Amino acid sequence: MTRTADRIVMVVFDGLRPDVVTPDRMPTLSAFLGEARRFTRASSVFPSITRVCASSIGTGAPPAVHGIVQNAFPDRAVRGDRLVDTANPDDLRDAVATHGPGFVAAPRFADALAAAGRRLAIVHTGSAGGAFLLDPRARANGSWVFSVHGRAATETPAAWDSAVARLGAPPAKSLPQAGMMEYGARVLTEVAFPEAQPDVAVLWLNEPDTSFHYLGLDGPGTRAALAASDAAFARVLDAVRSAPDGGARTAVIAASDHGHIAVTERLPLAEHLAELGFGAALDALHDDLTIYPGTACCFWQREPDPARLRRLAEAVREQPWCGPLFTLGGNGVEGTTPGAFDLALLGTAHPRAPALVVQLRSSGATDPYGLPGVSLIAGKDLPLGGGMHGGLNRAEMVNLIAFRLPDETDGETEDRPVSLIDLAPTILGLLGLPPLPSMVGRDMLGPPAARPERLLETGAGSYRQMLHLFGEGPGAVLHRAWCPA
Ligand SMILES: [Zn+2]
Repeated sequence: MTRTADRIVMVVFDGLRPDVVTPDRMPTLSAFLGEARRFTRASSVFPSITRVCASSIGTGAPPAVHGIVQNAFPDRAVRGDRLVDTANPDDLRDAVATHGPGFVAAPRFADALAAAGRRLAIVHTGSAGGAFLLDPRARANGSWVFSVHGRAATETPAAWDSAVARLGAPPAKSLPQAGMMEYGARVLTEVAFPEAQPDVAVLWLNEPDTSFHYLGLDGPGTRAALAASDAAFARVLDAVRSAPDGGARTAVIAASDHGHIAVTERLPLAEHLAELGFGAALDALHDDLTIYPGTACCFWQREPDPARLRRLAEAVREQPWCGPLFTLGGNGVEGTTPGAFDLALLGTAHPRAPALVVQLRSSGATDPYGLPGVSLIAGKDLPLGGGMHGGLNRAEMVNLIAFRLPDETDGETEDRPVSLIDLAPTILGLLGLPPLPSMVGRDMLGPPAARPERLLETGAGSYRQMLHLFGEGPGAVLHRAWCPA
């Protein structure tokens, strides 16, 4: 049995929960999984949010290594009036200009491909920053990167010009984004494949994520989004099959970056913090606490003040809405505050990381559609019943990772724990290339990594929390965290 491929095509279904991949909702992907090698204990990284995930897919490493610690975070040297938004390529370019290439220095599999003389093509229907973070050095690498956000949103505008000349401009935004999924698949198969002749091609579909957020996890609009992504995948598989070798030497990867949890109750976090004596702004800079909200809320102080942070963590810990709690710093397991874990356990300890992370209370109870996982949410302009992600509830952490490999046609499932950080070394391994030294993930088609199961518990007073993970250090696979009832 061979484990190598001449070409790789990876389709990322943003936010796709594996439990909604059923023959009625996604017939093509369901059939694909029947003949693929599927990892049934796959996980996202923390925070389980898109641009963090994209950076981990690209680098084979968690935020502690790549430094993209949230979708948006304070960096007053780059933006003095708001958070740096990783969706915005201008913010990322300005951050690189301010801090030097170290801002996104962790090398990507894209860099390894370029060094080996292999070509990468990316067709991205999500945010422009999401495409940028997969291959920040796309131009120098000779990659072909198309973003639906326009020629200024990519480092390789010629890709945009070719696609628009051939297919016209992308369709207007809609919900669900069915037309955009078809357009993305056509750019990949009708423009990128013939023009770039890529050794590795990535199609990033931003559905079902958008519809999960705004239309709920299983409503009719979301079903249409799932169908559209499935049809886009079918178009890609058809194009692979129509290659001169019938696609026999092409590995196809189907993956998602994170799961989704239904939000069922809104928490007025800033008001609660005011009652506790703390000033805070959600999604905006504040002189006391700057917070990136959601299901897992990230807190940054204007200036480090450990004593005040400890008072904050101790007050928050006693609140009925407080779930798992983490601090930047600690002894590697326990955080700096009793009851908290150290963010280092999550591979998230980085100078840009939040001083405190408070995951809001969530559970495995079923949402209105009967899918497991409900959570409180702070901030975010999402309807109740809509989906969210970012935290460590299993519904947010679970993702899809499956490979259809050359000369393998029998569906197989593997239950070894793997995560997004394993994709980059696996892609390189399939092409016979070694992983980069900075990649702490492991080739998941190679011998199983030693990642012993760990169930950690901490607490203080009546507060208790649990963390389930596999392995240690930045190469660990995170399974979930929760507060026992
Ligand atoms: Zn995502």
